[in-house]
Amino acid sequence: MGIVPSLPFGVYVHFPWCRRRCPYCDFAVEVAIEPPHQAYLEAVLGELAEQAPSFGGRQLVSIYFGGGTPSLWSVDCVAAVIRAVRERWAASGPLEITMEANPTDCQPERVEAWRAAGVNRVSVGVQSTRAEELAVLGRDHRMGDGVAAIARLQAAGELRVSADFIVGVPRRGPRGGRALPMLAPAELAVGDGAAAAADLGWVDVLARSLAQHASVYELTVEDGAAFSKRVADGRLIPPPADDLAELYVAVHHALAARGFEHYEISSFARPGFRAVHNSLYWSGGEFLGLGVGAASYRRTEGGAVRWSNRRRFALYQRERLAERRDISPLEDAGDRLWLGLRTSDGVRALDLAERPGVTEWLLGDGLAELVDGNVVPTVRGFLFADAIAARIVGAAGGR
Ligand code: SF4
Repeated sequence: MGIVPSLPFGVYVHFPWCRRRCPYCDFAVEVAIEPPHQAYLEAVLGELAEQAPSFGGRQLVSIYFGGGTPSLWSVDCVAAVIRAVRERWAASGPLEITMEANPTDCQPERVEAWRAAGVNRVSVGVQSTRAEELAVLGRDHRMGDGVAAIARLQAAGELRVSADFIVGVPRRGPRGGRALPMLAPAELAVGDGAAAAADLGWVDVLARSLAQHASVYELTVEDGAAFSKRVADGRLIPPPADDLAELYVAVHHALAARGFEHYEISSFARPGFRAVHNSLYWSGGEFLGLGVGAASYRRTEGGAVRWSNRRRFALYQRERLAERRDISPLEDAGDRLWLGLRTSDGVRALDLAERPGVTEWLLGDGLAELVDGNVVPTVRGFLFADAIAARIVGAAGGR
């Protein structure tokens, strides 16, 4: 009832466990060396059986294993989930099946087992190619592991590879000294443009690796993460906002020069290798999220509905749903506008005209351009994506 069966649709499977917590992470992760593989499989399959009927008739285009660290999950469990999802929906074309992976999990036997289970795309958390940054990030892999993982994945054949990088990693502050609460970290780092330029060494490493896709995230220091305290007491010094903006634009140009299309704020692809699953999120496609903390979106005749699951396995086992919200057609249309403006496809000028003054503002401030009847964001528009979203939904009033 109220469904739109011809729309592309994806299934997201969340695996919440990690070996340890990275100090910059404020996600709801659970730390375990040996997660409850089988119990979690049963829970996810139970949720699938319950939710699948409400997405009947959809055209499945993607399955995505995210986390947490889904590369920790027993490959038998991964294979069982893929089989169960494929049994429920027809796929009219090739299905994208992505596994997020830690570089150290990309060992040849494991990679081969993923491939045999149907995984055809691996998103590797390289994060940095610099030893000092990996140490600050507290990752359990070392310099060179990320690039070696990409090479192993490519050697396996038939696998597309995406690499995740983090930019704007804080520098270490003075050791053992007094806390520096009065000296803002941003002040300390002002003018350190050389550090920003040096960050771009990884772009050549990426280009040489032949990975088809990259996601580049700016590190933000969230209140709940261990980094927050380290920044507050001066042990870590994040780069100032100006340097980060400069770095963002530099990354855009550097990757474009090496054949990568900047097709979404944080996403870059060689031609023909955009992420199918992630693109669903930005284009109004439907998705079913399975597992702890996973979110779902389904269109209805009266707009849409979004819901998300509880964020601890123990709670999720008792009762899955954390939040469910009906979305009105007006809000849904607004969401599609601001999400569309986070991509290089932009949105139809005709659709944006429904929001008075927005097109004029975007074009006038160099945040977007008109291309074949579409309003398409510039790199400056990508930088100010949050302000654009606020203006469109009217939540913050814009300028
Ligand atoms: S950053 Fe990733 S690997 Fe590290 S704790 Fe968070 S989810 Fe786990």
